[in-house]
Amino acid sequence: MSELKVQSVLVTGSNRGIGFEFVQQFLRSQCPPEKIFATCRDPGSPQSQVTVIATLFFTAFLPPVDTTDPASVSTSVKEVEKHLNGQQLDLLINNAGVLTHNNLESQNAEDMLRVYNINVVGPMLVTQAFYPLLKRAEGTGRSAVVHISALLGSLEDVPHLFSFFPVISYRCSKAALNMLSRCQAEGYKQDGIISIAIHPGWVKTDMGGDQAPLTKEDSVSSMMKIISTLNEKQSGTFVDWEGKILPW
Ligand code: NDP
Repeated sequence: MSELKVQSVLVTGSNRGIGFEFVQQFLRSQCPPEKIFATCRDPGSPQSQVTVIATLFFTAFLPPVDTTDPASVSTSVKEVEKHLNGQQLDLLINNAGVLTHNNLESQNAEDMLRVYNINVVGPMLVTQAFYPLLKRAEGTGRSAVVHISALLGSLEDVPHLFSFFPVISYRCSKAALNMLSRCQAEGYKQDGIISIAIHPGWVKTDMGGDQAPLTKEDSVSSMMKIISTLNEKQSGTFVDWEGKILPW
C-alpha cells in the first residue's frame, strides 16, 4: 500500500498550539506540500504567529475560518478551490477545539452546546464543505481527514482519569467526534477518503497547560509520521500520537 502523498493540506485553528505546529512542521518537511491552507478565525490579529509565517512562505495561505460558521466555511472553500487550480485537497486536519473545566455539578446546557458546536459541529461542517475537493476520482490515489480527538473522549478510559479531569462537555464532544470520524470512514470509503481520529497526547499548549509532559514539537512530529503512512486499513480507527490503537 502506498503512502499518502500530501501536496495540499488544510489545518483549522492554526494560529496557535498544535495547529500552528502542524503548519510549521509541514513547511519545514523534506518535501513540503505545494499548498498549505493555514486557517484560523482571525488571521489579521497581531497575535497570530501564523500570519508572519504565511507572509514568509509562498506555500501558506490564510483563509479565515470560524469552523462553526457555515458562511465562513463556504467562503473558504471557494478561496481554497481557486488556489488548488483544479487539483484535489489531499489532507484536512480538523484541529480547532475547546475545553472547559466542568464537572457533573457545574456543567450547564449553554457550555455543553457551545463545546459540542466547536468540537463536533465544526468538524462536521468543514468536512462536508471540503468533501467535493477531497473526493478522489478513481485511480487518483487517496485523501484523508484527520480529526484531532482526545483520549478523554474514550468511553472505556473514563475510570482512569475521571476524578482529575471530569470535563463533561469536552469528553462528550470528543466521544461524538470519534463517532463522526467513524461514520465518515464508512461513508467516504468509495471516494478514496480516509478518516481517522488521533489523540495528540497531553501536550503543552494553552489548552494542555504547562504540566503537560509532551511538547508540541514531539506530538506533532509523531502525528506527521502517522499521517505520511496512512492507508485504508487505518480508516475508522482511533489512535494516539504514536499510532497505538485506543479503545472507543
Ligand atoms: P489551543 O487552545 O492551544 O488552540 C485551540 C485552537 O482552536 C486555537 O487556534 C483556536 O483559535 C481554535 N479554535 C477554537 N474554536 C474555533 C472555531 N470556532 N473556529 C476556528 N478555530 C477555533 O489548543 P491545542 O492546540 O492544545 O488543541 C488542538 C486540538 O488538540 C483540540 O482539538 C484539542 O481538543 C486537541 N487536544 C489537545 C490536547 C492537549 O493536551 N493540548 C490533548 C488532547 C486533544 P482562537 O485562537 O481563535 O481561539
